Amino acid sequence: MNIHEFQARELFAEFGVATQPGKVAHSPEEAEKVALGLSGDRLVIKAQIHAGGRGKGTFKSGFKGGVHLCNTPTEAKDLASKMLGQILVTHQTGPDGKEVGKIFVGEAVDIARELYFAILIDRATSVPVVIASTEGGVDIETVAEKSPERILRVPVNPFLGLMPYQTRIIASSLGLTGPLMNQASKLFFNLYRLFTERDCSMVEVNPLVVTNDGHVLALDAKFNFDDNALYRQPSIVAMRDVTEEDQREVEASKHGLNYIGLDGNIACLVNGAGLAMATMDIIQHAGGSPANFLDVGGGATREQVASAFRIILADKSVKGILVNIFGGIMDCDVIAHGIVEAAKETGLAIPLVVRLEGNNVEAGKKTLAESGLKLEGAENILDAARRIVAAVNVNA
Ligand code: GDP
Ligand code: MG
Repeated sequence: MNIHEFQARELFAEFGVATQPGKVAHSPEEAEKVALGLSGDRLVIKAQIHAGGRGKGTFKSGFKGGVHLCNTPTEAKDLASKMLGQILVTHQTGPDGKEVGKIFVGEAVDIARELYFAILIDRATSVPVVIASTEGGVDIETVAEKSPERILRVPVNPFLGLMPYQTRIIASSLGLTGPLMNQASKLFFNLYRLFTERDCSMVEVNPLVVTNDGHVLALDAKFNFDDNALYRQPSIVAMRDVTEEDQREVEASKHGLNYIGLDGNIACLVNGAGLAMATMDIIQHAGGSPANFLDVGGGATREQVASAFRIILADKSVKGILVNIFGGIMDCDVIAHGIVEAAKETGLAIPLVVRLEGNNVEAGKKTLAESGLKLEGAENILDAARRIVAAVNVNA
């Protein structure tokens, strides 16, 4: 799960991570009001979307930049009106961009240096690792490619946590000495505490800045949370903004389905993640392209199967459906009834290939055969993939 920058700043406040004052606004008038409540002679106005690269992004309206500096509350209002309700495209949003529904209005700071600081879980070593670089404010991937020696990696022992000697090594490698080292160490330590106590899988501060008047502040924040730990993080779950997520995935999660939308046109409905991956591979092998990953799980109910079908059919790019079920625990007839129910309800008008195998398969096949639905049965996975690819190509 991801959160917005303004929400990340609320977490910063809770954990004592230094940043500039500011608030979220939902309308140009509110932006002006927030600006009036701030001190300092310059303001920063930032589009709130779940994607980075906003500064260098462009709105579909032609307006450039999702991060702006200005001097007065009236200008803040004007900038807000140019961003709110508009689609911002950045290198992280993809060509469709994201609609800006909220903006952050903050006191602008005078930046002396832009640095990079992140904490993430390193899967190779299974421990949190701190990534720091003097090259902040720019794409870290570019730094990693062009000047990897500028990136410091510090593994953290999860039982000991981030140790004071480590925060000093990191600060010093970023060229932070004296009082700046103390401020940075405290910031790193508090950010690490936030990372572990809120079950983050990644915290990225880009840029972490040194201001002209000698402060170390986190100026931007990108968070990822471990979805498997959300059950014990109600305050994080409360920050979820479903309008930022793939609507198909939001709907699927309501029904307890594991669904990931993809770019192809052949939808798959499968039980078991391994079988779902194999099914996507074999569709590709047969010359097609999967529209989704969908695992209905080992013990799906008739209602879940029907919901899965509805989600698939609501996707306009889907031109054919491949159902691939191995009934190990699952009863094939339950799947068959779910398919029939949903297909009748939605008036299925695209090719459907079903490969059923396993527990109670005869009853399942009978249910499908007697349903009057137009569908093709398949002998095995490869046969099923070839049939659906052929059917979709004929219809194309
Ligand atoms: P991103 O483009 O989505 O990563 O958004 P950032 O919050 O990182 O902002 C992009 C850039 O805008 C930063 O790298 C800074 O150079 C600049 N910026 C952001 N906030 C301020 C600020 O308060 N003062 C100044 N001078 N520049 C800022
Ligand atoms: Mg940034």
